[in-house]
Amino acid sequence: MKKYNLNEINKIMSMPLGELLYKAQHKHKKYFQNKDVQLASLISVKTGSCPEDCKYCPQSAHYNVDLQKEKLISLFSLENAAINAKKNGAQRFCMGAAWKKLNDGNDLETIIKMIKIVKKLNLEACVTLGTITEQQAIKLKKAGLDAYNHNIDTSPEFYKKIISTRKFEERINTLKKVRKAGINVCSGGIIGMGESWLDRAKMLKILHDMRPNPESIPINALVPVKGTPLENRSLIEPLEIIRVIATARIIMPKSRIRLSAGRKNFSKETQILCLLSGANSIFYGENLLTTENNSMSEDKKLIKEFNQQDESIRIKQLENEGKKQSRSDSGEIISLENYV
Ligand code: SF4
Repeated sequence: MKKYNLNEINKIMSMPLGELLYKAQHKHKKYFQNKDVQLASLISVKTGSCPEDCKYCPQSAHYNVDLQKEKLISLFSLENAAINAKKNGAQRFCMGAAWKKLNDGNDLETIIKMIKIVKKLNLEACVTLGTITEQQAIKLKKAGLDAYNHNIDTSPEFYKKIISTRKFEERINTLKKVRKAGINVCSGGIIGMGESWLDRAKMLKILHDMRPNPESIPINALVPVKGTPLENRSLIEPLEIIRVIATARIIMPKSRIRLSAGRKNFSKETQILCLLSGANSIFYGENLLTTENNSMSEDKKLIKEFNQQDESIRIKQLENEGKKQSRSDSGEIISLENYV
């Protein structure tokens, strides 16, 4: 797999849009012949009171946000949520807990039971639980865990402006433990926090330098939440996320790129362009942890429109009869060969 340096990644990200999308599609078609869009469901299994101070996050205990805090949910609620996700077409079930780190004992044991419930339903299981130890990673793998999510969020330089309670290096170390235990890595970032294009390129370079590349790369657009330090940030321009996704697809062609938080603020057309740029998964369900998401019926319609041939615009009769001419509204005979 080709290795790109930062300069090359920057060049790719700033290409004329048509060329960028063409290259991204070319890679996408080469590595994902079946063009499927995976539906992933994400629920919060423990909400709020997190000791970290991530400036974008309503679950941090450092900010005064209108949020219903919740302890670890029951296994019964978890199972129902997973059954429901499966019924609605999800193939992957992700569980997020607002923890700085996973504690041994009750928390770890409950998470293991949750993973087993999800696996029994034949869903891919992914968790995001903060920092974990090598021993914990091995136990999670043994329980059947498919993937561990731990986002690097942004470039190492900009990271310091967004989080002060932990270091970028700690994130990388946890990801190494995940990989060592044989669990697939899910790691991506957030755009729209005030980072530069160079920060975005550096974030993608760090993911690209991981060998193998993360199997799963969520790309989030910031959802500014009232009460968090980033509450007044403007929403990103749609073409910004499209450029980031297309670049990620070109430099990490085998990874599943997930269009994640912030989708609710995009038009249907922007979301379709994200899929055309190389995203091949969406998070599905009315909520993404604590932020609002698209409705499931809207999403089903979106995927259908993206994947299916639109029968309503085919000139069926002409095809059936093999005719090459038709009548215009005024009755004049026109040749279809003139309209190519
Ligand atoms: S992003 Fe995760 S680690 Fe950071 S405050 Fe929110 S829940 Fe805690």
